[in-house]
Parts: sequence; C-alpha cells; structure tokens
Amino acid sequence: MSVFLYNTKTRHKDEFKPLDTKQVTMYCCGPTVYNYAHIGNLRTYIYEDLLANTLRLAGYKVKHVMNITDVGHLTSDGDEGEDKMKIAAEREQKSVLEIARMYEDAFFRHTQALGLKRPTIVCRATEHIQDMIDFIKALEEKGFAYISNGNVYFDTAKFPHYGCLSGQKREDLKHGARTEQDLNKKNASDFVLWFTSSKFENQILQWESPWGRGYPGWHIECSAMATKYLGECIDIHCGGIDHIPVHHENEIAQSEARLGHEWVNYWVHMEFLNNKSGKMSKSKGGFLTLDSLVEKGYQPMHYKYFCLTSHYRSTAIFSEEAMDAAKNAYENLAEAMSIYKAAAKNQNLTETEEKTLQALNEEFNNYLFDDLKTPMALSLIWSVVKDNQKSAILKREFLYHIDKALNLSLKDVAPKEVERIAITPQIEALLQVRAEARAAKDWAKSDEIRDQLAALGIGVKDLPNKEIELIKL
Ligand code: AMP
Ligand code: ZN
Repeated sequence: MSVFLYNTKTRHKDEFKPLDTKQVTMYCCGPTVYNYAHIGNLRTYIYEDLLANTLRLAGYKVKHVMNITDVGHLTSDGDEGEDKMKIAAEREQKSVLEIARMYEDAFFRHTQALGLKRPTIVCRATEHIQDMIDFIKALEEKGFAYISNGNVYFDTAKFPHYGCLSGQKREDLKHGARTEQDLNKKNASDFVLWFTSSKFENQILQWESPWGRGYPGWHIECSAMATKYLGECIDIHCGGIDHIPVHHENEIAQSEARLGHEWVNYWVHMEFLNNKSGKMSKSKGGFLTLDSLVEKGYQPMHYKYFCLTSHYRSTAIFSEEAMDAAKNAYENLAEAMSIYKAAAKNQNLTETEEKTLQALNEEFNNYLFDDLKTPMALSLIWSVVKDNQKSAILKREFLYHIDKALNLSLKDVAPKEVERIAITPQIEALLQVRAEARAAKDWAKSDEIRDQLAALGIGVKDLPNKEIELIKL
C-alpha cells in the first residue's frame, strides 16, 4: 500500500516515492530555544513524529533530522527585529547559552512526555558555524551573495524560482511591509546570510568568518545542516505553515543555488493551533505550555489525543471544553485497554481473529497512509472498542498496533485486576431491570437499582461499549 502526502510544492496529494526505497530522509525545522515550546509548536512536532512513524509502518527506515536554533533568530521571520536569544538572556539573567540549553532540555522533556521519538540526529546551530560559513562561501563563489554594509546577503534576483513554494512573485514583495526596512538590501526579498553589523552590536555569540566577526542569519542553518546530514536531495521537509513564505523559500533559494538542482521532493506543512482569540505565538507571549496544561489537570497524552482529533492540515482551536472531551476519551480508551489486558491474559487469538486483526490493522494503516487522516483512524479505533462481538484479546492486539504509530502509551497501561464477584440470582435480576431501564432512558429507575445494588455491596460502572463493570464496594 502506498503512502500519499499533500505536497505544498505541487499543491497536490502525491504518492510518496522515496529516493532510496529502504531509507527515507526527513528534515524538520526545530525549536528556537529562547522560551518554552508552546502547545501550538508541539502540535507540529506531534504530527512530524506521526509522519515518521507512519513511514515506519509502511516499511521504511526513517532518518529524521531536527535542528535547534540557538543563535540568530530575530523577532521577525525576515532579518529585522531584536535578537530573541539576547532578550531572553536579559529577561532571565542567564548567559545566552544557558538559556538555549535550558529550553532545549525543556523541549525534549515535553516531546518525551508526549511519546515522541527523539529524531535520529538533533543538531545545534552553534555547533555548525563552519558548515554555514562553507555554505555561504560556495554561494559567494557562484555569484548568489553580495556584501552590503558589512553583511552578506543572498541575492534573490539571481534565483529565478524564488517564491515557487508559496506562489509569490519576487517582484511583488514589498520592502518592510510589517517591519522597518533594511536599506542595505538590493531587493525586498533578499536576506542575510552572515551578519557582521546589525543594529544590536553587542550580540553575544559571534564567530570569526571571511567577512569579519559576526554570526549567521537564521535561514542558513537549516540548509547547511540538512545537506550535511541528509545529502544533496531530501525526501521530506516539514515545518509549520508560517514557514512557507519566508523561511522555506529562503532555504530553497540557498540550497538549490548552491547545489544546482532541486533539493526537496515533498514539502509537508502543519496548520496552526489557534486560541479562541487568534494565533498562538511565542513572541506574542501569554501562550500555553505543556506544563501549564498539567497545572490545569490535564496529562500530556490528553493533549496529544486532542491534537489527533483534527487533521494536520486543518487549523485547530484550543479550548478547555475540547481538552475536557479529549481527556475523557483518552481515559476511556486507557481504561478499556487495562480491562482487555486483564481479560486476555494467557489467551491466544484464534485463526479467524488473526485475520480480522490483520484487516483492522490494514484499515488503520490506510487512514494514516492517506495523508495522515487521524480523525478517521480514531473513529475506527472507537468502532472496534465499542464492538461487543469482538474479544478482549483482539481489541488488545489492535490497540497495540495503533500505538505503534500514535504512541498514546497504551502499551504502558497496567492490566486491571478485577476481583471476582459472585452473581447471585438476585443481583442478576437487578442488573437485568437496570439494563432495561437504561435502554428506556428511565434514569430514575436505573439510579434506584444502582442504590439497591450498592446496598448489597456492589458498585456498577458503565463502560464505553455499553458493557458494565461490577465493583466490590
Ligand atoms: P519556532 O520555535 O517558533 O521556530 O517554531 C517551531 C515550530 O512550530 C515551527 O515548525 C513552526 O512553524 C511551528 N509553529 C509555530 N507556531 C505554531 C502554532 N501556533 N501552531 C502550530 N505550529 C506552530
Ligand atoms: Zn528551517
């Protein structure tokens, strides 16, 4: 079965054909570590991890590379604004590198809590300065770079395809639409490859370079590290949709200018998580982190479940009501798994069940192979859980399978050891009456029977699949 992915480059859902049939190469723009990743950022990483897992389900090995932006990202996506790392260092009275390491650690603590695999290679910008210098030198030798007021710029007029990903025409880009304009640029879309002079002279992290002491522009790190670790052609490049018009256009321009050929085959972009009041962004402040969700009484897996309920190419709106629903659903699923684990202990699948399981696994895979259709995959999961005709062992094995891709920690759920309760004819009769009352939506009667059962020392819990669990009180 083939995998299909929506490719921003072709604006089409394309069949995925890797360059090497055994190993897929995938580059994801990583976090800017001047603050905590907010839950919007984490939604993007949840889907990138899911994409890697889906490709593994399809039989590929995945080499997943992620950068850590620990230098050079300014407050705007262009080259204007303040140095985010420096602002954070001043705010928290730490060194720039202390800030970077602290937020990098927090980032991986959060991704681990969400059950995301650590990428195969995690590379920090500050540890790849020489690769960036070599990249810029190659661009200079090929005539794509110019120096103006001490900074090295990429000349987008020399790259005719500039704007191909977002469909913008280079000439339509206006100087300083939102931010102050940089008068050193020849063209509005040009961008800095290396700074030796910027408006904040006391930038803390600086390195020697052929153009003078300074530091790299933001975009160059991804091109330099992606080509270093993944070679001259990459299968998949991911990021949030905000990266399409500037950062990814610039990555394409630099990389293809240097390499002389197409660089990435599939561009996969994740839509945004918004607040009810609009976009969630680090620079705007007031954003939610995973820790703040935990303080509100949610677990990381509740947030992951919430994310999976919407497709990665739809905007998700965060609300506590939606989180409560996700929490409830996740807890029910985990509870169902714990019951299956206990009930299916020492059991084996029958031959027919083996076949059913295989068909269910394939159906689940097919939803993910079709551009990561997680809402459909979740509804399949619930249809299996609610099916009274299916055995506990079949359901348990199916949930093990879905967890390979979704990693909702279902494999870690402890089996629920149920105490045996002797069902007397009296209890059986009461349960029968209660079931009839519930079917007739006679809640008063149902509550009355619950009280009678309680008086006999028996609690009743209703499970998602209309089954009940009896508890000794
Ligand atoms: P940053 O650390 O700001 O560079 O962002 C890390 C990743 O999160 C990038 O892929 C961004 O495109 C993505 N991103 C930023 N804001 C959001 C948001 N509100 N929802 C989803 N993804 C986002
Ligand atoms: Zn990038």
